[in-house]
Amino acid sequence: MVESAYETALRQFDNAVRHLDLPPGIADYLRVPKREITVNFPVEMEDKSVRVFTGYRVHHNTALGPTKGGIRYHPATTLDEVRALAMWMTWKCAVVGLPYGGAKGGVICEPKKLTVRELEKLTRRYATEISVLMSPQGDIPAPDVGTGEREMAWIMDTYSMHHGYSVPAVVTGKPVAVGGSLGRAEATGRGVVITMIEALKRKNLPLEHTRVVVQGFGKVGGPAAYLAQERGAKVIAVSDVNGGVHDPRGIDLSALRAYVATQGSVVGFPQGEAIDNADLLELDCDVLMPCAMENQITATNAARIRAKIIAEGANGPLTPEADHILREKGVFVIPDILCNAGGVTVSYFEWVQDLQSFFWGEDEINERLRQIMVRSFNQILRVAHEKSIDMRTAAQVLAIHRVAEAVQLRGIYP
Ligand code: NAD
Repeated sequence: MVESAYETALRQFDNAVRHLDLPPGIADYLRVPKREITVNFPVEMEDKSVRVFTGYRVHHNTALGPTKGGIRYHPATTLDEVRALAMWMTWKCAVVGLPYGGAKGGVICEPKKLTVRELEKLTRRYATEISVLMSPQGDIPAPDVGTGEREMAWIMDTYSMHHGYSVPAVVTGKPVAVGGSLGRAEATGRGVVITMIEALKRKNLPLEHTRVVVQGFGKVGGPAAYLAQERGAKVIAVSDVNGGVHDPRGIDLSALRAYVATQGSVVGFPQGEAIDNADLLELDCDVLMPCAMENQITATNAARIRAKIIAEGANGPLTPEADHILREKGVFVIPDILCNAGGVTVSYFEWVQDLQSFFWGEDEINERLRQIMVRSFNQILRVAHEKSIDMRTAAQVLAIHRVAEAVQLRGIYP
């Protein structure tokens, strides 16, 4: 059986800590979430029946600043999954040098099976329930799987109604019209492509005509696919939860986006051939971008992966066993906490802009993002070379070192 994301996160942590000289008590502290809340709350449905939903918000660590992390709406969300994602957020923020700690939230629900009105009620009630933890100075949520700009606008409005004035900085990933940032919608995908380009350079592979496969055509995978194509790569397969399409000649992504906008899925797209998610991962390609869920590449399928580079758009798509097998095969894995950090980086820019009520141009945002991603990539690579460790362990070592340093400098209260 595949272990849970939290077990994976803890194993990665234990592995990274072996390369650091941390006092045992500090390592023990960084291994556990700082606080977690479970909320059970009622929502009146369209048919007037009342349904009880369960949600979570976990703060992993606050040594570097207020906590930051998305909110996931998914039927299989668990407290353990949210814990893992919160812990990864701590390392992600630290590894790209943002003044944030890590958090994550989730509600067990199937958003596609709820009406817009039901979703709005659920979101506003969940936001109210977690408002004991949420604030622009304390904890700033963002979108994740199953949530987006619309939900962030509702959360911002709910929080603002309770305070009597607008508080845009309480959440990021909002629509630009209500204090969102230019460039945020593509930021995670843009970061994935920036790190892919750096990895290609290290492997001495050309960008032009690089064959890219993308699992998950959502907020991360969609922009990652078309930005990769814009830079000269060839996207040969994409998928969503229902299945995928494959065309070795390259997929016409504008046509695909138009198709998805009307059909709600990539399945049935007339160009290319249908392919299921398992086969898609094993396609002959140069770069594989898993941009969907955790545990997609495991001991079972890792040996059959043919990509030379894996760019982890999703959080936790590889198990530690898969990591090991791919390392042996010489695959360059761009670890999630670096690869998909573009989203939280532009979320940070959004928060800064909201706090200052002063908004930046898109070119400035994209350029600052590029600088942070390239700098972080090179810092991690340096640690990997110095310590003869893989990129994931190096990223975690760098991040854990920074958080541990902050904890020790601040001191143990009281
Ligand atoms: P999303 O809901 O916008 O898109 C998810 C996509 O994956 C959809 O196309 C969905 O159909 C597909 N999918 C879901 N389950 C699947 C499965 N089992 N197999 C194949 N495809 C599946 O979500 P998102 O925001 O794009 O997030 C995707 C991943 O990226 C998650 O791991 C998330 O934590 C991570 N992430 C997101 C952001 C962000 O800014 N949204 C930032 C960093 C990391």
